[in-house]
Amino acid sequence: MIPGQGLAKAAPSLAVIGAGVAGCALVAQMRRLGWRGPISLWESGRGPGGRASTRRSRHDARVRLDHGAPLLSISSTEAPALLAPLLDGGWIEPWGGGLAQLGAEGQLIIGATDPLTQGDLYRGRGSMDQLCRGLLELAGSDVELHSQCLVRDLATTAAGGWELLDQQQQWLGAADWLVLSGTLLVHPRCQTLLGWPEPPLQPLARTLGDPQLQRAAAAIAAIDSSPRCALLLLIPPAAAEAWRRLPFRLLSFEAAAERRWGLSRLSIQPLEDGRCAVVAHSSAAVARLHSDVIGSRSSVAQLSGVRPSPQREQALIASLTSALSAVVEPWITPLELEGSDPQLMRWGAAFPEGAGLARELMLCPQSRIGFCGDFCSGPGFGRIEAALRSGEELAERTLAAISAG
Ligand SMILES: Cc1cc2nc3c(=O)[nH]c(=O)nc-3n(C[C@H](O)[C@H](O)[C@H](O)COP(=O)(O)OP(=O)(O)OC[C@H]3O[C@@H](n4cnc5c(N)ncnc54)[C@H](O)[C@@H]3O)c2cc1C
Repeated sequence: MIPGQGLAKAAPSLAVIGAGVAGCALVAQMRRLGWRGPISLWESGRGPGGRASTRRSRHDARVRLDHGAPLLSISSTEAPALLAPLLDGGWIEPWGGGLAQLGAEGQLIIGATDPLTQGDLYRGRGSMDQLCRGLLELAGSDVELHSQCLVRDLATTAAGGWELLDQQQQWLGAADWLVLSGTLLVHPRCQTLLGWPEPPLQPLARTLGDPQLQRAAAAIAAIDSSPRCALLLLIPPAAAEAWRRLPFRLLSFEAAAERRWGLSRLSIQPLEDGRCAVVAHSSAAVARLHSDVIGSRSSVAQLSGVRPSPQREQALIASLTSALSAVVEPWITPLELEGSDPQLMRWGAAFPEGAGLARELMLCPQSRIGFCGDFCSGPGFGRIEAALRSGEELAERTLAAISAG
């Protein structure tokens, strides 16, 4: 298609940046509500999932590590509309693993919950990326997914639509309506993370003459977030037995325990072939202390402007491993990590903090742009629940605005 041309007049097109839970929920709900216009979905990562993705291996199909969210919790009484079809389709299932909390003296409280494990708990069936895969399945086959494609810049068209540009300012695609389901193009963290001079939406928000967009862009730019580092281990079958016998599948750390060990969560994920994936999330404080250390094998490391530092990465892996060893010492001694291929992954913006984006700013019809994601205020803020709900809500509001316009 020639840039800026060929857009169907009868059915306006929609470009969604980000194939995390919110972006996938949005496209699923648009289709469920009967909208058949063209949808393109743009994702910088290797596939859909975002912070609820699963790390896989190109060489070994049996390997899967849920290195972001290990589960989802629905804490409000009215479940998101997409939950039932996801369950019916077998994409997600009730969480069946044991929960526990660790106190500062090393005491284990079996069954204790924390803010991330309150309400009804679910997980992707087999792996967390099944959640987004299921959402895309619900959306149907006519959603154009562009993975490993970073949208670097945005421009507006004379007809009031949007153009998406890559790192070389080359045209990627165009659409009448745009949804941003991540904050990268609006938030100043793109400057520190990727060395961009300015978040690309900000100059447009200043010049488009849409006060609602200006407010939305300012509100998103002001959202703080808390980081995490993740240590990923793939324990070979012989050593994995001890990990499988642990009295929990998900261990959270009380505040004092978090300060003591520098860890916030430990997730045990047995694989079918006898191996066991182990994911240890650092505390926010440890992640902040090592803000310049990214995982050299993470997808953000492929983006220009990001320079991994192997030495500091190895030092952080060693320090997280030693904390992990101290934590599991009552059950696993000595800690056998030979062949476990330790990897580091950084979640620079793991959890949004503060009030989030007010719901009335989620859609700016005058500029034909919308925002969804766990950073939108409301039930489940900062969790998958908010990502699902915001995608669903924005789908309804966008459809209403398209019909009205
Ligand atoms: C370590 C960790 C543990 C967690 N634990 C839990 C938990 O137990 N329970 C729970 O409910 N939640 C948990 N969460 C939070 C949960 O993962 C998020 O709330 C949810 O996944 C957010 O989904 P989203 O779609 O809003 O955002 P994201 O998942 O961040 O999706 C945004 C997507 O947009 C893409 N993107 C952004 N900008 C661009 C661009 N310019 N071009 C192309 N692509 C772009 C990103 O790559 C990303 O895939 C956890 C998160 C982390 C990191």
